[in-house]
Amino acid sequence: MNLEELKKEIQKSPPEKRKDKLEELMSELSPEDIEELKKQECIFCMIASKKVSSHVIYEDIDYLAVLDILPATPGHVILFPKQHIISLQNLDNEIFAIAKKIALVLSQLTGNVNILLQSGALAGQKTEHMMIHLIPRVKDDKVNITWPANKVDDQILLKLKEEIISKFPRKKEENLESYSKKERLP
Ligand SMILES: [Zn+2]
Repeated sequence: MNLEELKKEIQKSPPEKRKDKLEELMSELSPEDIEELKKQECIFCMIASKKVSSHVIYEDIDYLAVLDILPATPGHVILFPKQHIISLQNLDNEIFAIAKKIALVLSQLTGNVNILLQSGALAGQKTEHMMIHLIPRVKDDKVNITWPANKVDDQILLKLKEEIISKFPRKKEENLESYSKKERLP
């Protein structure tokens, strides 16, 4: 069932029964069906499938970059996978190379650009669909990307270092030769 059919089905019920009808229909759906419905109402999936128009500045088989319709500054671009990818873990490395390519182009506008990815609600992720913001910066643009410079004890840094290093994915053969020159662990 697609979103339109679901809506029609719900609208057949009288208004006071619609909530119950929705719950009844949702309970019959598999997790895959619910995922599919979410995709259908995702604005970025709709832009990717050209159901919603946009100002495309970059496109390849897997990625799309468009001008943000509520830009932080003129030239604010959002880059996202055409697939409904909802976690950083499932985002392909390639998107970061494309982000750099676009950032270098945007740099030609003002000479200053931020590349921003928000993973998790506390990091500012507002939509399920993962994306990278590329924001050209100009003087007094009111964009505020700052953080406090907290004092920290060296012992805490040491503990954090060990904890972080231990979480890197390890290869089965645990020796330096098993890592390529570019991905050597400390
Ligand atoms: Zn989506």
